[in-house]
Amino acid sequence: MNTHAQGPGKILIVGGGTAGWMSAMLLSDAWKEHGYEIALLESSDIGIIGVGEGSTPKMRRFFDQLGIPEAQWMAACNATYKCGIRFPDWATRKGYKSYYHPFFSISDNSTVRAFAENVAIRRDNFDVHAHPDAFFVSNYLAKRKLAPIAESNAEYQSEYAYHFDAGLIGQFLKEQAIARGIKHIVDTVTQVKQHENGDISGVETEHTGFIEADFFIDCTGFASVLTSKTLDIPFLSYKDVLFNDRAVALPTHLDGDTLPSQTISSALKHGWAWKIPLNNRFGNGYVYSSDHTDPDAAERELRKHIGLEDEAVEARHLKMRVGRAASSWNRNSLAVGLSQGFIEPLEATALMIVQDTLENFITQYSAGDFTPKYRDEFNTKINLIFDSIKDYIFMHYKLNTRNDTPYWVENRENSKVSDSVAQILHVWDNGEDLLAELKRQGPRLAYSPTSWFCILAGMGRFPRKPKKAKPRIQVNDPEEIRRYCESITQEFPDHRDTITAMHVK
Ligand SMILES: Cc1cc2nc3c(=O)[nH]c(=O)nc-3n(C[C@H](O)[C@H](O)[C@H](O)COP(=O)(O)OP(=O)(O)OC[C@H]3O[C@@H](n4cnc5c(N)ncnc54)[C@H](O)[C@@H]3O)c2cc1C
Repeated sequence: MNTHAQGPGKILIVGGGTAGWMSAMLLSDAWKEHGYEIALLESSDIGIIGVGEGSTPKMRRFFDQLGIPEAQWMAACNATYKCGIRFPDWATRKGYKSYYHPFFSISDNSTVRAFAENVAIRRDNFDVHAHPDAFFVSNYLAKRKLAPIAESNAEYQSEYAYHFDAGLIGQFLKEQAIARGIKHIVDTVTQVKQHENGDISGVETEHTGFIEADFFIDCTGFASVLTSKTLDIPFLSYKDVLFNDRAVALPTHLDGDTLPSQTISSALKHGWAWKIPLNNRFGNGYVYSSDHTDPDAAERELRKHIGLEDEAVEARHLKMRVGRAASSWNRNSLAVGLSQGFIEPLEATALMIVQDTLENFITQYSAGDFTPKYRDEFNTKINLIFDSIKDYIFMHYKLNTRNDTPYWVENRENSKVSDSVAQILHVWDNGEDLLAELKRQGPRLAYSPTSWFCILAGMGRFPRKPKKAKPRIQVNDPEEIRRYCESITQEFPDHRDTITAMHVK
C-alpha cells in the first residue's frame, strides 16, 4: 500500500475504455497539486466494449468540472441532447401503454405538485388524470424534438443528459488525458503480481515488461483482471431480479431532417430495445434474457422492430455480466466501470456509477491521507448506489402488465423483491403516504421521489375497481397544465438546428 502521505504516488490504470479514460481525467484533475504519476495501460488486442451511448444528467458535471465546453466534446462525439426516456409497451392498460421518465429540474416544482395531487386522488380511485406525461415540460420538449437548452434569458431551466458515440467519446477522452500529461502504454497484461501481504505490486506485460505502481485502477471491463481474477473478490449476480444477460446492437440511418431528443426504450417479447439518436445515425439494441430467447431469434426480432431488412448491416452480439463486486476498493486497487459491476442499461446509469465511484474515492482517499482509512465507508456507499439503482430498474419489470410471453409474466410474478421495493409497493397499493416512505428510505434510494411517482403512475399501478366519479374537491386540469407546458416549449430551439450549429463553430 502506498506510503506517500503527501499524495497518491504512482497510479496505474489498467484498461482504456470509457471508464479508464474517465478515471485518468478525474484523478489527474483532483490531484494535480499533489505529486503523482498516472499511467494508463490498455491492450490493442483486447478491444473496448464499444456500446454505451446514453447518459444521465450527472455527465454534465463531468465535463463542466474538467472545463470542457459542450460545443467541443459534443461535436467530436456526434453527441445529442437527451431530455428523458420514453418507455412504450411495458404496460397494456388503456391510457398507460407508454410513459416518459423526465429529468426533473427545479423549474418543474409547480407541475410536480399538481401531478402529486392528482396522483393522490387517483390512488383513491377517483376518475382524474394522473399520467405523468401531461405534467412535465421535458416530455413536451422531447415530443417536439426540441433541445433542452432555453433561449438565454428564459426563466424555465430544463435538466438534461446526452447521447454520444461510445467509440468517439473514448477517443476524445484519450486525447484530452494524454494532453494533460497521462502516460499512455499500449500492451497486454499477462500476469498480475502481488506482494507477500496480498497487495498488488505490478503487472507483467507482453512487451513492456514489469510495470509497478503504488495504487491500481482496474478498468479492464467484464474481464475484471485485477478485482475478480487476481484479488478473487466475489461477484454478486443480480440475475434473480434482472433476467437480461445479453444484447444485440445495430445502427440505422436517421430518418428525415429532424433529430429526436429522447431515448426510446420499447418493451419487446423477451426484453427491451433502445433507440438512441446521434448526430449521424441511430444506435439500436435489444437487451434480452438468454433463458428466454436465443441470439438469432433476438436479432430477427430487433431487425423487424426497427425495420432493418438489410442483412449487410452487421449486428454486434454481446454478453453482459449483471451484478456487482462485493467491494470495489480492495487492498491497493479500485475497480471502476464494468470490472466493478454492471446494471443492465435501461436507465443508462453505468457511466454515472463510474463518476460516483471516482468522486467518492477521490474524497475518501484524500481525506484518509492516501491510506485505506475510509475504505469500508467507501465500499458501503458504492454498494448502496449499485443496489438502489438495481431496485429502481427492477421496478420497471415488476410493474409490467404484459402477458404475451412467459418472460413478462415471470418478471411480474418474481417474488425476490428487496425490502425497499416491497415496502414502496405496499405503501403505494394501500393508499399510504409514499412521499413519507421515500423520505424514510432517503439515503438508501438512488432515484428521487419524482422518479418513483412517475414509474408507478406512468405504468398505471392504480386500483382495478370501477372508478369513483370525479371528486368534489379541486383537481388540476391536465388541459391547463398542457397549455402551460406547451407555452414554455416556445422558448426552446429545434434540436437539429442546435446540434448543427455546434458542428459549424
Ligand atoms: C449492451 C450495453 C449497453 C450499454 N449502454 C450504456 C448506456 O446507455 N449508458 C452507459 O452509461 N453505459 C452503458 N453501458 C455500459 C458501458 O458500455 C460501459 O460502462 C462503458 O463503456 C465502460 O466500459 P469499461 O471501460 O469499463 O470497459 P471496456 O470498454 O470493456 O474496456 C476494457 C479495457 O480493458 C482493457 N483490457 C482488458 N483486459 C486487459 C489486459 N489483460 N491487459 C490490458 N488491457 C486489458 C481493454 O483493452 C479495454 O481497453 C452499456 C453496456 C452494454 C453491454
